[in-house]
Amino acid sequence: MVKRILRSESSCDVLIVGAGPAGLSTAWHLRDSGKTIRLVEATGRVGGLTKTCEERGFRFDSVIHVFHLRDNSIKQWIVDDLFKGKLPLIDRVCRVWSFGVYTRYPFQANTYGLPEEVARECIEEYLKVLEHPPNKKVRTAEDFIYKHFGKGFAKHFMIPYNEKIWGVHPKQMTAKWGERFVPIPKKEDVLAGAKLNPDCKLGYNTSFFYPTRGAGEMAERIHAALPPHTVEFDVALRSVDLEKKIATLSTGERVRYQHLVSTIPLPELARSVRKPSLALAKNAKLLKCRPLPYLDIALNVPARQKYHWCYVPSPKVPFYRVTIYSNLSSLNAPKEKSSLCVELSSRRYNKRMLSKIIDGLKEMRLINGKADIQFVSPKFIKYAYVIYDQNHSKAVPIILKTFAKNGVHSIGRWGVWNYSSTEDALIMGRDVASKISNI
Ligand SMILES: Cc1cc2nc3c(=O)[nH]c(=O)nc-3n(C[C@H](O)[C@H](O)[C@H](O)COP(=O)(O)OP(=O)(O)OC[C@H]3O[C@@H](n4cnc5c(N)ncnc54)[C@H](O)[C@@H]3O)c2cc1C
Repeated sequence: MVKRILRSESSCDVLIVGAGPAGLSTAWHLRDSGKTIRLVEATGRVGGLTKTCEERGFRFDSVIHVFHLRDNSIKQWIVDDLFKGKLPLIDRVCRVWSFGVYTRYPFQANTYGLPEEVARECIEEYLKVLEHPPNKKVRTAEDFIYKHFGKGFAKHFMIPYNEKIWGVHPKQMTAKWGERFVPIPKKEDVLAGAKLNPDCKLGYNTSFFYPTRGAGEMAERIHAALPPHTVEFDVALRSVDLEKKIATLSTGERVRYQHLVSTIPLPELARSVRKPSLALAKNAKLLKCRPLPYLDIALNVPARQKYHWCYVPSPKVPFYRVTIYSNLSSLNAPKEKSSLCVELSSRRYNKRMLSKIIDGLKEMRLINGKADIQFVSPKFIKYAYVIYDQNHSKAVPIILKTFAKNGVHSIGRWGVWNYSSTEDALIMGRDVASKISNI
């Protein structure tokens, strides 16, 4: 049962903050629980970072968002129930651009085509660590890279690429970051990938789901399946009194809740607490995140490359990944046109960077020149990549425990402050709903 109460003082069983995948999933899984729920969203749209925006006939996602659904109940809900079995499953076409050539992904299993001395160094150093694994304990991301890939792959891809994406050197991060998302190939795959071009399908995303009308269609469909007016748009959480279990909203309304499910970034939730404990305030200050400026680029020509996305490790190029949105779905761009997303390595964008970005796109044969570009739309994500530094593993559990003790469930990628996928956010929403329903 969903109630919308427009009073200055009100109460509900569950107050959900944020209508991204985690918040929407919580509301959907609580819909028949008999609990009174409120779901407030600071913006005018559902979907959070998975939303798709339309601009002059183009559809731009909020950076590449393709979906990997491995949990059976989530897959059934999304693919069978919401999309009626019509959610396209696409085979990944992914490239790496380095040393002036395109190679296949992952780099570590596809050295074929690289300059000979680069490929040789990668393979020789890789074989060295296989024969004599370093006995140093793996503490940092750099240790993890050296242990699994050797100095050659580290130098030519892993270190420069990860430095570009995270904004810090892998020696400043713990090894935890790579465990799930970095494909560790078998020796035979690495050797085969050096001799010929096998298009080795490694990694967690060899195929993916992508909605025809852009990534945001998923959240739109979850929203449409909720009881009408479940989401209260343009209403933000302002502050929380943990002891009294009262949340104050941007409308001035004070909501007494039994459970608060927050999907907003953990440091923001901590900052919203009235009279926070010293431990909460101190640990929240330790959380670090890399912001992400990126460019949505509309092209007035069809796509000049056939891949979906490409990794760019070279420090000389000012971006680390390019996605061709219009290769994910033809509906993302008008006929005979195409669109790109360029994720920048710097923390800020300014117009003076554009000519270097255009040079990079030209070098990669994504555009012939400036004349291919219809418009450029700069965007910014304040919270993109959580930094797994030494403080991360200590501070996050303390903060989450403090909240849990007070009936606050902080979930979602930025709610638990980790590196995770949309499916993980949907799972967290489902699991917290089940926990609350059984209390
Ligand atoms: C660069 C990048 C690429 C990614 N690519 C992929 C991918 O290809 N595939 C994939 O599965 N995942 C991808 N992800 C991860 C994906 O974006 C997240 O896992 C997912 O968006 C998490 O959903 P969420 O609901 O936890 O958070 P969000 O999507 O951030 O939703 C949180 C919501 O809370 C709202 N909010 C914030 N503050 C307040 C407030 N005070 N009051 C009320 N509402 C508030 C926000 O407006 C937002 O709507 C990517 C992430 C990044 C950064």
